[in-house]
This record gives sequence, C-alpha cells and structure tokens, in this order.
Amino acid sequence: MNINEINKNWDFIIGLEIHVQLETISKIFSDCSYDYDQTPNSLTCPTSIGLPGALPNINQSAIESAIKFGKAVNGKISKKFTFARKHYFYPDLPKGYQISQFDQPIVTGGSVPIWWNEKKYNIDLTRAHLEEDAGKSFHNSKDNISNLDYNRSGAALIEIVTEPVIIHPEQAKIFMQRVKQIINYINISNAEMEKGKLRCDANISLSKKGSGKFGIKTEIKNINSFKNVQKAIESEIFRQNDLLSNGKKVEQATLTWNNDKNVAEIMRLKENADDYRYFNDPDLPPIDLDKSLVDKIMSEVTILPFEYENKWIVDYKLSLTEATVLSTTKKIAKYFESVVDSGVAAKKASAWISTELFRLFNEENLEFNSEKVSSYDLIKIIELVENDKITQNSGKEILRKIFENGVSVEEILQSGNFEISNVDIGSIVDSILSQCSDEVSRFKDGEEKLMGFFIGQINRETKGKISHKIIIDELTKKLNN
Ligand code: ADP
Ligand code: MG
Repeated sequence: MNINEINKNWDFIIGLEIHVQLETISKIFSDCSYDYDQTPNSLTCPTSIGLPGALPNINQSAIESAIKFGKAVNGKISKKFTFARKHYFYPDLPKGYQISQFDQPIVTGGSVPIWWNEKKYNIDLTRAHLEEDAGKSFHNSKDNISNLDYNRSGAALIEIVTEPVIIHPEQAKIFMQRVKQIINYINISNAEMEKGKLRCDANISLSKKGSGKFGIKTEIKNINSFKNVQKAIESEIFRQNDLLSNGKKVEQATLTWNNDKNVAEIMRLKENADDYRYFNDPDLPPIDLDKSLVDKIMSEVTILPFEYENKWIVDYKLSLTEATVLSTTKKIAKYFESVVDSGVAAKKASAWISTELFRLFNEENLEFNSEKVSSYDLIKIIELVENDKITQNSGKEILRKIFENGVSVEEILQSGNFEISNVDIGSIVDSILSQCSDEVSRFKDGEEKLMGFFIGQINRETKGKISHKIIIDELTKKLNN
C-alpha cells in the first residue's frame, strides 16, 4: 500500500515542532560568541557551561529576531514575557535544565501560507518561543567513549510549534521549506538543515477518514533533511496503519529517525514520558519591551515571499510555478522586480530569468546572485531582442559572455558582430547561393523544400545572429531573380 491509498481510509494529522538557530553574534544568555564548526569547547563561558553562580543575561538581538518572525507570520507579539527552566538530565545539558519559555511565549498564533497541489493552505501556528540550545554528544561505541562539545550550549534558538493541521507528509516537507524561506527573507538565520541550524520533530496520528476525532499521536525526533521530513512521517504512517488496520492500538511514543535504515524507530513509550518541572527562572526578570522598539523592529520586516507570489499571480498574471520559482530567494525576487519595473513584460522577464539566467547558474552549481549579470545588463539584452536589434540566440550568447567574463553588454556589442544592422546579409546570401548552384536550379525547378537547406547554410555562416524572417526575405528576393 502506498501513502495515498492509506489516505483513502485514514486522515493524517501532523503537527511540527521546529527549531531554528538564530544567527546572533553571541549566545542567548551570555556574551560568549557562537559559531558553527569551530574547535570543540573553544566557545564556552561560565554561563554556557552552567557553572554554579554564573548568571544569564538576555541577548537583545535574539528578542529582535523573534519579533521579526512573529511579524512575518502575523502572530501576536507579547511585550511582556518570562523565561522558564525546563528540567531534564542529559550530559550535554550541564545545568540540568534548559532555559526556555513555558506559558508566556514571545509569539502566539500566526500562520504560514503554503502551496500544495496548486492550492493554498494556511498552516496555523500555536506559538514560537525563545530558548537555549544544548551542547553536542559524540558517542563512539567502538571505544566505549562519549565526547562532549559545549560550543553549541547556550546558542540562541527559536522553537516554532504548529497546530495539528498538516494533512500529508509532502505538505510537512513543503511547510518546512517555506519556514526556511521566511527565515532567510527576514534574515535571522541561514537555517541550513544540513548544518543542524534548522531541525524538526514531527507529531503524527491517524484518524478514521472524516471522523474528525484525533487518534493517539507519536513523535519522531532527529529528522535532518527536507527529504527525510517526508520519509520519516511516511514511515510512521505505515507503522500506525499496520497497527490500526489489524485492530491494534497505537501507543503514545517517541521515535527517532534512523538515517541508515530509513525508518523511524521507537525510542521510548509513554510510561517514561518526561516530567519537565517547569518554573519561571528566578535569575531572569520578566521582560517588558518598549512599544516603540517592537514597532521599529516590526517595520524592518519588508515584503515576504507569499506577498510577492500573490502580487505576481494577480497583477502580472504569472502562473503559480513561475511565481514560486522567482520568489525562491529575496535576491531573485528583487532582481525580477527591477527588470519588470524597467518596463519589460513580466512573462518575458520571468522566462529570461528562470530559463536563460538560471541555466548558467545551474551549470556552475552556483546560487543566484545579481553580481554575475546585473539587472541593467539583462534589461538591455531583452530590449535589444525585442526591438529586433539582435536575435534571441545572440541575446543568449551575450548573456553567457557576461556571465562568464564579467563584461558589459556595451563592450560585447562593440567587439562582436551581434547587431543585425552590422551584418551584410545581402552579400552572405549571394555567396552561399553561388556555392550551391545545383540546389538553386533544383529549387527553381520546384523543389521548394530546399528553402530549409538554404536557411541552414546561412544560419551556420551567421552563427544564428540573424532572424529567420530577415533570412527568408533576403532569400526569396534573391531566388526569385
Ligand atoms: P506534547 O504535550 O506532547 O508536547 P503538544 O500539545 O504540546 O503535545 O503538541 C505538540 C505538537 O504535537 C504540536 O505540533 C501539535 O500540533 C501536535 N499534535 C497535538 N496533538 C496531535 C495529534 N493528535 N496528532 C498529531 N499531532 C498532534
Ligand atoms: Mg512537545
């Protein structure tokens, strides 16, 4: 059975808990710096390794990042909130508790629009709160040794919790990608999943089709790529479907994604559920933010990917695919906007950017950036083609030269025979026809399909720089003489 067949009998109910590492210079409760991939235990301080007596101090820029996120998802931003201690025992958590937020998160509610099967879904959020990250354990079972790296201990995180409203594993993956995109647009983190800066736990239950009743949920931890978000949820749906279809019950459980075996495995059942013994951290006074500060930070969140998409679909009549390709990153979106603002038709700009320009970046395996080909140069090329000054093929060739050699349109036009008016088409046609006297007489005897042969010869000679219309006009004139 595949997922969609199971979906005919069961509704899928999925809720995600997502952790994003905020790219603040220092950690969330100390001025100790944090960076990815540094010498183990080189970025620590008394607070981040939990020495007795070391006091936490909130990092203002982590708060600002959370405000920006709240604004981007249209959530409610609290000006007053507290931090709480969440207790659990693990070697990578030296204090024995994590500083997090409990009943007063900085952001409540909000939603994230996604596209799935050409339809828009608003994924509702429960909350987003600030917390500190733990250190990292490295287990070496061969030598029976565990190593601990506390660099990450105390790094700033935002945890985003969705309502149980995601209805398909693929939707969960698309939602995760959208969250990363939003985080990148508002510039609070690069959120690379492969570096563990974006992580997700997935909660899943099945419910008899149309019953509206929630079943017992399980939670998968440790999912480390977009692809695996979908695969891990699918694997758990298969497991739950097997149990339920055979009259058995799903037990509340925590699972972990086994990357090597490609399956979610049970880690612990409900009887071992954690009791976090939350209480407000007495070392951190309640926060009371200035309204003017909150307003200022909120105003720094400018246009978001879904706002671009709506505008382009409604006003520019782009297809959903065209719009979502161009909204992928803020750099692409702004580039496209500047080409359209110069007067180029939106569909035309979209085709040149998504097909011709992206091809060049893809060939080099580079991420799009406007330094390679400025929007000014692209606009110039499109205008030259539109005004029949150069052919489409020449336009593509010029684009490639700019991309590869970092030259300007003007320099290329000066150096090469790209402009149609610079080519003496009359004498090229004369010379080709004189070399093909046999074909010419056959053509004159009625073998009209030889026209294609002549066009091919001239195309080769002019390297595709002359439009077919001009070539045909000239050939017709000469051949009818
Ligand atoms: P817990 O107390 O186990 O942490 P929460 O109520 O805090 O559970 O929810 C955690 C996550 O699980 C949220 O993303 C929520 O949307 C999701 N969730 C809650 N109930 C269900 C369910 N029956 N099926 C799937 N997901 C659920
Ligand atoms: Mg939970």
